[in-house]
Amino acid sequence: MNIRIERTAVPKAKPDTNDLPFGVLFTDHMFLMNYDKGEGWHDPRIVPYAPFTLEPAAMVLHYAQEIFEGLKAYRTAEGKVQLFRPMDNIRRMNDSAERLCVPKIPEDVFMQALLTLVELEQDWVPSAEGTSLYIRPFAIATDPHVGVHAAHHYLFSIITCPVGSYYKEGINPVRILIESQDIRAVRGGTGYTKCGGNYAASLRAGEKAEELGFSQVLWLDGVHKKYIEEVGSMNVMFKINGKIVTPSLVSGSVLPGVTRRSCIQLLKDWGYEIEERDISVDELIHAAETGELEEAWGTGTAAVVSPMGEIAYEGESHVICGGKIGPVTQKLYDTLTGIQWGKIPDPYGWVVPVC
Ligand SMILES: *Cc1c(COP(=O)(O)O)cnc(C)c1O
Repeated sequence: MNIRIERTAVPKAKPDTNDLPFGVLFTDHMFLMNYDKGEGWHDPRIVPYAPFTLEPAAMVLHYAQEIFEGLKAYRTAEGKVQLFRPMDNIRRMNDSAERLCVPKIPEDVFMQALLTLVELEQDWVPSAEGTSLYIRPFAIATDPHVGVHAAHHYLFSIITCPVGSYYKEGINPVRILIESQDIRAVRGGTGYTKCGGNYAASLRAGEKAEELGFSQVLWLDGVHKKYIEEVGSMNVMFKINGKIVTPSLVSGSVLPGVTRRSCIQLLKDWGYEIEERDISVDELIHAAETGELEEAWGTGTAAVVSPMGEIAYEGESHVICGGKIGPVTQKLYDTLTGIQWGKIPDPYGWVVPVC
C-alpha cells in the first residue's frame, strides 16, 4: 500500500533529551488510516501532528470501542534506529481488535506504517542514555451514533513521542499494594487486550494506592480474588525458592506482554525453571514471610523491569530482597536493554532495523 506523506511546514523545536517527560511531547507527524464498512482500511497517510475533528456523537466517546499498543524505537551507539519485536505488537493489536469488534489491520500495512513514520521522525529518536521514541498505535470508532453496536467507521492512528529514561535516579524498587476490592479484568472480559476501558476501570485502585504511599497495585483475579494477575500495567514475575513463577495466560484476564515473553525466553536460556501457573496471594505472602520469595518484579515496555521492594496485604507489609533490586531482575534489565539499544548481540532476531 502506498503511504502518502504530507510534511509539516513548521517543524517543532527538539526538546532537551536529558530531561524528557513521559508522554507529553509529540513529534511533527502522525500516521492516519480510515476504515469504512464496504471499503475496508484505506487512505494510509502521514500528516502533520494535529487535533482530530470528531463528532460529539462519535461512538468511541460513548462506548469506548478503542484499542491501542505501545512500543519503542531505540537509537544505537552507531546512530541507527531500531524497533523491538514490532510484529508481536501488531499481532496483539489485532487480537485486541477481534475482541473489541474493530476490523483487523493488515499486518503488512501496519508494519509499513511503523517503519515509514519512525524513519520520517528519525531525528526525534533521542540518543541520551535510556531514552527512546515511544510509539502509540491506536484505533477508535468514529460513527456519529448513540446506539450500542459495533461501529462501521474507524480511524487508525500512530503517534510518537520522545521519552526519557524510566530510571533517571537509578532503579529503585517500588512499594506495592495488593488490591482486594477492585478488579482489573475477569475471565471472559477484555483483560488480555489493550483497550482504554481496562485502564479506566483500573484508575480508582491506583489512586487509592497512591494516596496510601504505594506506587502500584497488585491485581487479583476477579473470580476468587485470590490469584495474582498483574502489577499496575505490567506483568509480574516472582523468584520463589530458585524457581521463576509467573501467572499463566490461560484465564484471559492477563495481558500477554512482549516483555514478559522476552523475559521467559531469556530465563529459560539461562537455565531457570519457569512455572506459568496460578499463584495465590496466600502462597506469595507465605513465601515472603519464610524468605523463600527471593525477588519480585514487573515487566513492561515502559520500564522494562520494575523491581518490587515491598508488598502490603490486608494491613501487613513485607519487604522483598531487602528492598533492593535482585540479581535476576538486574540481569534481565541489563540483557533486554542491551539488546534493545544494540549494546549486545541479539541472538533471537527480536530487533528490526528502521534506518
Ligand atoms: C501493555 C501492558 C503490559 C505489558 O506489555 P508489554 O508488551 O510488555 O509492554 C502488561 N499489562 C498490561 C495490563 C498492559 O496494558
